Amino acid sequence: MSDASYDVVVVGMGGAGLCAALSYAETAAEGNRTARIAVLERAPKEERGGATRYTTARFRVDDDNNLDPTFVDTVAATHRDADLDYFRTLERETPASMRFIEERGVELIHYPLGLASGVYGGREASPNGGGKAIVETLAGVLEGVDGVEIHYETEAVDLVTDERGAITGITARGRDGYLRTLSAPAVILACGGWQNNKALMSQYLGPNADDMPLIAPGLAYNTGDGLRMATDVGGGVAGQFDMVHGEPYDRRTTYPDAVVLSYPYGILVNGRAERFIDEGQAPLDRTFEAFSYEIWRNQCNEAYLIGDQSMVTVPFYELLNTTDKEPETADTLAGLAEKLGLDPGALEATVAEYNAAAGPQPFDPTTMDGKATTGITPPKTNWAQPIERGPFVGYPLTTAVCFVFGGVRTDAQARVVSPAGAPIPGLYGAGEMTGVFYRYYPVGTSVLRGLTFGRIAGAHAATAAAREVAAV
Ligand SMILES: Cc1cc2nc3c(=O)[nH]c(=O)nc-3n(C[C@H](O)[C@H](O)[C@H](O)COP(=O)(O)OP(=O)(O)OC[C@H]3O[C@@H](n4cnc5c(N)ncnc54)[C@H](O)[C@@H]3O)c2cc1C
Repeated sequence: MSDASYDVVVVGMGGAGLCAALSYAETAAEGNRTARIAVLERAPKEERGGATRYTTARFRVDDDNNLDPTFVDTVAATHRDADLDYFRTLERETPASMRFIEERGVELIHYPLGLASGVYGGREASPNGGGKAIVETLAGVLEGVDGVEIHYETEAVDLVTDERGAITGITARGRDGYLRTLSAPAVILACGGWQNNKALMSQYLGPNADDMPLIAPGLAYNTGDGLRMATDVGGGVAGQFDMVHGEPYDRRTTYPDAVVLSYPYGILVNGRAERFIDEGQAPLDRTFEAFSYEIWRNQCNEAYLIGDQSMVTVPFYELLNTTDKEPETADTLAGLAEKLGLDPGALEATVAEYNAAAGPQPFDPTTMDGKATTGITPPKTNWAQPIERGPFVGYPLTTAVCFVFGGVRTDAQARVVSPAGAPIPGLYGAGEMTGVFYRYYPVGTSVLRGLTFGRIAGAHAATAAAREVAAV
């Protein structure tokens, strides 16, 4: 890669960057222009695509690809700073984002969730082949577009601006280690979060942030460069910097996305074999983020899911637990405790107390069944099925980081804005590098917002460029 001039530089090749580059190229083509587009990707080609490459990419949409109609009110209730313009735009543009990837060859599968769920209508969609299908399909299309250059193993380093603060390019480091300057009037940052920047994790999340492993290898490339570059040129920040979306992860493996989510149908205990949370307080999608945070922050990042045959026979059990390891099993609770490294007597006492408190209502994992404990702390509000049908099963868990909430502030047109809300001329941001969530992440909207605001950024930047050309 040498110094060169482009119409736009896109940083990152996850869902957000790919949609941004394609939408820029296609908007320019509608005006009979062939855009010169540079895409910078830190990873080698076979590892391109960051988090998107490793996600199942569950979309919170109905069978017509409309976003869950309760989503905007849900995020509005999380915090006074929740950006409702951004979220209403996401809601409005979701069907178009789904159409965008489908028309370029990504096949969507719609399916019922099957178990008790906080997702309106109880249905969602995913690409056939997960996020990897998004990356490989859209990258394949992009590779065939005239004017597009993709630079692998190339990392964006710094934005370049003129004396008025408008973007004029970016510096990038290639495989040889030397910096080049790529001139461009627009840069779209789509380079993910800062979950693999240990300094930022400690700074914003506090002690023991480095205890959390990454949930998938693609996150290793995401070190917060977008946040640094954008704030260096005056961009503001948004989202809750001391909150993280973590997931309960099988401690015995490093397999990508090895999560264990069948805990509503068993009990969670800590390293002392004591329960510490109401496992059945709400549907799974409303609890796993908060429980992961609790395991990391207050339980020394160590927990164990304990269950019996009534847990392993719930519908969709295999889909709930995507770890590559079978659970530890034993005919007795004491035997299971030994395999998990827990005190056998303590686990037996915890389970005995829980079993004695379990209510008489019928167990029904497909709904909030009201089968609750009485007289124990913490209670279990639903699915309090006694643990008595061996063989007993257990998983050792830790919290793995999936993404961070804090990031760059953008507006509903995907422009990076200053703390006062003024757009930085020529600078756009999309996907996980932008901060939007506070307190709680409603699942199935993270890939979606990357695709949507990537599309919006590309189209806006190309339209702005066409206006400049017309004005000359
Ligand atoms: C295991 C797992 C499961 C998930 N499940 C879901 C789910 O079911 N539904 C959902 O909505 N979300 C899910 N998520 C979250 C979702 O995948 C991400 O939020 C989303 O894919 C982020 O897309 P992105 O394009 O913003 O970033 P990424 O896909 O991470 O892409 C960022 C890109 O930028 C590149 N990069 C970084 N720094 C630089 C630099 N300096 N220069 C050049 N390139 C750089 C990286 O190499 C990468 O290619 C999951 C995530 C993981 C990891």
